Amino acid sequence: MDRFAETEGKRAHDPLYSPRRAARATATGFPVGEHGEVFAGPLIVGAGPAGLAVAACLTMRGVPYALLERHGCIASLWRHRTYRRLRLHLPKRYCELPLMPFPSSYPEYPTREQFLDYLEEYIRTFGIRPFFRQEVVSAEFDGELWCVRTKEIVTATIDGGKEAVLSTATREYRSKWLVVATGENAEPVVPEIDGIDCFKGQVMHSCDYRSGEPYQGSKVLVVGCGNSGMEVSLDLSNHNVHTSMVVRDTMHVLPREIMGLSTFGLSLWLLMCLSVQTVDKILLLLTRLVLGDTARLGIPRPSIGPMELKKISGKTPVLDVGTIAKIKSGDIKVLPAIQSFREHDVKFIDGKTEDFDAVILATGYKSNVPYWLKENDFFFEKDGFPRKPNEWKGKNGLYAAGFSRRGLLGVSIDATKIADDIARCWSDIGYEKHKTK
Ligand SMILES: Cc1cc2nc3c(=O)[nH]c(=O)nc-3n(C[C@H](O)[C@H](O)[C@H](O)COP(=O)(O)OP(=O)(O)OC[C@H]3O[C@@H](n4cnc5c(N)ncnc54)[C@H](O)[C@@H]3O)c2cc1C
Repeated sequence: MDRFAETEGKRAHDPLYSPRRAARATATGFPVGEHGEVFAGPLIVGAGPAGLAVAACLTMRGVPYALLERHGCIASLWRHRTYRRLRLHLPKRYCELPLMPFPSSYPEYPTREQFLDYLEEYIRTFGIRPFFRQEVVSAEFDGELWCVRTKEIVTATIDGGKEAVLSTATREYRSKWLVVATGENAEPVVPEIDGIDCFKGQVMHSCDYRSGEPYQGSKVLVVGCGNSGMEVSLDLSNHNVHTSMVVRDTMHVLPREIMGLSTFGLSLWLLMCLSVQTVDKILLLLTRLVLGDTARLGIPRPSIGPMELKKISGKTPVLDVGTIAKIKSGDIKVLPAIQSFREHDVKFIDGKTEDFDAVILATGYKSNVPYWLKENDFFFEKDGFPRKPNEWKGKNGLYAAGFSRRGLLGVSIDATKIADDIARCWSDIGYEKHKTK
């Protein structure tokens, strides 16, 4: 047993041990590096699930940290950029963060609100106090330390509930370790489509979509058929919106559950004893029995199976929660790729045109790491992900948490490994040597 596992084991049996007290003792949240001085512990960028998980694991290992978040709240993606009907796509046991299970009262697929409540309880339990409104605008290794610059944005709510920027200030933080936890979904991807600027109807990214309620009775086009596109289409249709969905590429759609078992859980179980190709054959056979032939509905499948494709390209299969039934019943129309927009209608590549009141771009997200991290050995400058799949550790104390394309399960695995690694180094060198110079 390594010494940290041992310490944790002792703590688990210590009735006086409180994570909150430990958080205070490790000086989490004390003012650091405002004028560029060296911070003793690691700097974590991003207070989403990954940043919070790293912070909790470090707390339990007695390592102080500074957690920098660009927004004024934790988990800004979940709080501000998700639709109301959202539930976790995977069963709760695959989505819990390290050291704290979901409450047993939670359903198998917790709602967005329940997940946010769980995260609030998580930060209370581990005494996590992020530095809010600290957007990291650059980070660079100077040969000895990571120099991280932030822009602090002070805003106020003005007429109509909009936010106005009152002032900005820059700060510099320096540390031996930098944990990148800004997420795979940091910025929305908005594609350039011919004529889109001339379109007179509403155009928005799915990150700004909340509910189908305001669109009742109108005609809405959803562009994209990933998990978001499928679920936004379902939500619109449930609100009596005339819904169409653009399917441009091939896509694996699997039922969320097969015979009452989570498809994700079933695949993990099968993969323990069978090859990826065999698992794919079984999954596709069962899917065909549950959903039928999705190609006949206008959603053709890739030639490579879902698990193999995930392994090769990181592309996640869509888990159906009712959209396929709506397509079959004709409530949701599937349309081919868009050729161009005009003032009131949209032309598709099959030559047909159709008018719409609004267009929702469910066209995905991208990492923002290349915009601020001046490093391209570990992180690939083109997509802002680590170059090698499942990599969490770079050189010179650089770490990536939450970039393995494995959702919250991957987040937990990364956080535990990163905290173990930093804690080992912290203990080897000794706290005194890390203290502010
Ligand atoms: C609609 C939707 C539904 C999803 N559902 C599931 C699901 O059911 N199960 C699942 O496992 N996964 C799901 N995911 C994937 C989800 O993104 C992750 O599971 C989880 O949010 C990843 O956490 P994270 O901390 O890595 O990233 P994020 O949640 O994106 O958090 C990153 C944080 O970093 C901050 N940040 C970004 N840039 C900077 C900067 N320059 N400076 C300071 N702070 C910065 C952001 O404001 C944010 O708070 C879903 C994603 C979406 C979009």
